[in-house]
Amino acid sequence: MSGNITFTMIKPQAMRNGAGGAILKMIQDGGFEIIALKLKRLSKNAAEEFYGIHKGKPFYDKLVDFMTSGPIIAAILKKSNAVEDYRRLLGTTDPETAEEGTIRKAFATDMTMNAAHGSDSDENALIEAKFHFTEEEIFD
Ligand code: ATP
Ligand code: MG
Repeated sequence: MSGNITFTMIKPQAMRNGAGGAILKMIQDGGFEIIALKLKRLSKNAAEEFYGIHKGKPFYDKLVDFMTSGPIIAAILKKSNAVEDYRRLLGTTDPETAEEGTIRKAFATDMTMNAAHGSDSDENALIEAKFHFTEEEIFD
C-alpha cells in the first residue's frame, strides 16, 4: 500500500454545506480509487492527536474545536503518486490562494474551514490510514 495511497478527511464545514458527495466526485474524476470510506465524528483526543504537530500554535484550539464540530468523511485514496497528486487537487491551505479546479477553491470558506485534509507524506499517509481504518476496512 505504501507509496501509492493518501488519506483524506472531508471536514465538518464541507459536510454541513452538503459538499461531501461533490468532493468525492472530484476525487474519483481526478483518477483516485477510494479503497476505504467512512462517516465518523472525531473525538477531542483524536483531533488533538491528529493535529498534534500544531499543538501550541495560535490556531490549534480553534482547529480542534472545528474538527470535532460534526461528522467527517474519512477515506483512503489509491493512485500512483497519490500524496502529491491529491495535494494538488486539494489546493493550498489558504483558500484565498487556491487555484481554479481545486477542492479548496470550490468548497473552502476560510483557512480553518478549508474543506478537506490530505496527507503530506507517504509515511504520514500510512500512519493516518491506520489511525482511522482496520485492515478489514481497507479494500486494497
Ligand atoms: P491539512 O493537514 O488539514 O490537510 P494542510 O496540510 O494544508 O492542511 P497544515 O499545515 O497541515 O496544512 O495545517 C493543518 C490545518 O491547520 C490547516 O488545514 C488549517 O486549517 C490550519 N492552519 C494551518 N496553518 C494555519 C494558520 N497559519 N492560521 C490558521 N490556521 C492554520
Ligand atoms: Mg497537513
